[in-house]
Amino acid sequence: MKFHRAPDTIQKLSLLDDSTTFEPAGDQPRTESSAKRANQLPCISNVSTPKGAVPMMKTMITTACERNCFYCPFRAGRGKTQRVTVKPEELASTFDQYQRAGIAKGLFLSSGIIKGSVTTQDKILDTVEIIRRKYQYDGFIHLKIMPGAEYDQVYRAMELADRVSINLEGPTQERLNALAPKKDFAGELLQRLAWAHQIRQSGVRASSVTQFVVGAVGDTDLELLSISEKLYRQMGLTRAYYSGFHPVADTPFENLNPTIPIRELRLYQSSFLLRDYGWSVEELPFEASGSLRLDVDPKRAWADIYLRQSPVEIMHATRDQLMRIPGIGPRSADTILKARRQRRLTDISQLRALGIHAPEQTAPYILLNGHQPPIQLSLF
Ligand code: SF4
Repeated sequence: MKFHRAPDTIQKLSLLDDSTTFEPAGDQPRTESSAKRANQLPCISNVSTPKGAVPMMKTMITTACERNCFYCPFRAGRGKTQRVTVKPEELASTFDQYQRAGIAKGLFLSSGIIKGSVTTQDKILDTVEIIRRKYQYDGFIHLKIMPGAEYDQVYRAMELADRVSINLEGPTQERLNALAPKKDFAGELLQRLAWAHQIRQSGVRASSVTQFVVGAVGDTDLELLSISEKLYRQMGLTRAYYSGFHPVADTPFENLNPTIPIRELRLYQSSFLLRDYGWSVEELPFEASGSLRLDVDPKRAWADIYLRQSPVEIMHATRDQLMRIPGIGPRSADTILKARRQRRLTDISQLRALGIHAPEQTAPYILLNGHQPPIQLSLF
């Protein structure tokens, strides 16, 4: 495919290619940066969505920034960062060509902050106005809301986009101060998440997500999941992203250790228990330090404490009780409820036939027809 824009737009986008590596847009954040070079054009990542993986254009308006977040490669004064700025019309035009060629099936647009948050947010909105109005694109768009953006800008962003990100970065003001000294947790960030909730209640459909930088400044899992629960319950948050800290050279945090990936995984597993399984944060099995166990997933850690001595009778359990059992999620619980109306479930092979992938791992926590199923020990 030939691109009609001046080649310097593609050249600029090439310099922006890795700029959104740490900004997730889809369901499986850790895979987003790895698949992007399938077609040689810059700023394309394969993003996992409920409809499967789609190629998405992920980029920024500018890599210049007047703020100084300690972990960020775009922070003011960092010499190693090449500063690149793309104008709304050239970005919109390139996206239009990408999407008409089938190279991109969605857009994620972020930015560093230049000339204040309001001016920067206007550049993001201008870009998307052109994409929606001039190029008549009606597919998926995910926009970043700048800290301190105005109410009307958040409203317009939510009218234009399918999803907006308002990144809290830290779970409390104290943790945020240690990460990003120029950001105001309540005034600049939490308030925008509350506005997004309010705007959605007025009938605007866009969802809202947030992101935390995990593990750089002593933040605990308890802190991260407590604020996540509040956002799910009180502000209708669609998803919290937990991005393990990675040190960036030539930043104040360059000598800190990276966060181990398993911590991210345990946070996501716990976050889904809060969001999709109706758990409260008090039920999660934290250690005294406020950390989750890394060696076992949180649902199994909870079940080891509460279900091993009091296993759940599969024939009588409620849907909520079934979903407390390791290996049984909402869909499996519904399948079991339906199946047991038709026949007694007395054997573990019946659970396998119902689609429960590893019923032997479920066995320690259940009774089938009053009996604990035999637990097969692994030979290895
Ligand atoms: S405001 Fe955003 S782009 Fe700027 S330094 Fe902070 S995290 Fe980086």
